Amino acid sequence: MTSVHVLPPLPYANDALEPVISAETLSFHYGKHHKDYVVKLNQLVEGTPFAGLSLESLIVRTAGKAKHAAVFHNAAQAWNHAFYWHSLTPKTGTDIPTALNEKIRASFGTLATLKEQLAKAAIEQFGSGWAWLVLDGSDLRVINTSNSDDPLPKHLKPLLTIDVWEHAYYLDYQNRRADYVHAVLDQLINWEFAAGNLA
Ligand code: MN
Repeated sequence: MTSVHVLPPLPYANDALEPVISAETLSFHYGKHHKDYVVKLNQLVEGTPFAGLSLESLIVRTAGKAKHAAVFHNAAQAWNHAFYWHSLTPKTGTDIPTALNEKIRASFGTLATLKEQLAKAAIEQFGSGWAWLVLDGSDLRVINTSNSDDPLPKHLKPLLTIDVWEHAYYLDYQNRRADYVHAVLDQLINWEFAAGNLA
């Protein structure tokens, strides 16, 4: 058997993002949802030509191909969730690194405008999906994607993401997705991680 996908460790404790995201939400979201995508992916690729390929490689190779939809969904969700955990941090009040700050000014004018666009993308995403800050060539852009879709096959470089599947917020906010999105944007975004993804 070739190398198998593993559930990467959460970069903080289950209760580290409280009160914005509860320990109960994180324990289900990471310990059940994220874990299940990894487990299912391993079952799907075992003994196939996809065994041993990285998540990124699986995502790019299977995107848009109906007969590989299950592999795509589970590989993309495994990747997206690992990326989401790192997009959040309990460390508040961190300054935005200079290189990222300059790009934000060039592409959006102000941080407030970027946050408004991220909030809009996250809140207006119809049904399950993700809001992203991406690097498109040398410019920053905000996009949203449905279900498991992510920016990698579109040749966009993700810098950070917000999960807007109901499982990300329903225990804490029920139908109030906007409250979850604004709280995450104001209190949990890991700008150092986003800046690191510029390289
Ligand atoms: Mn999720």
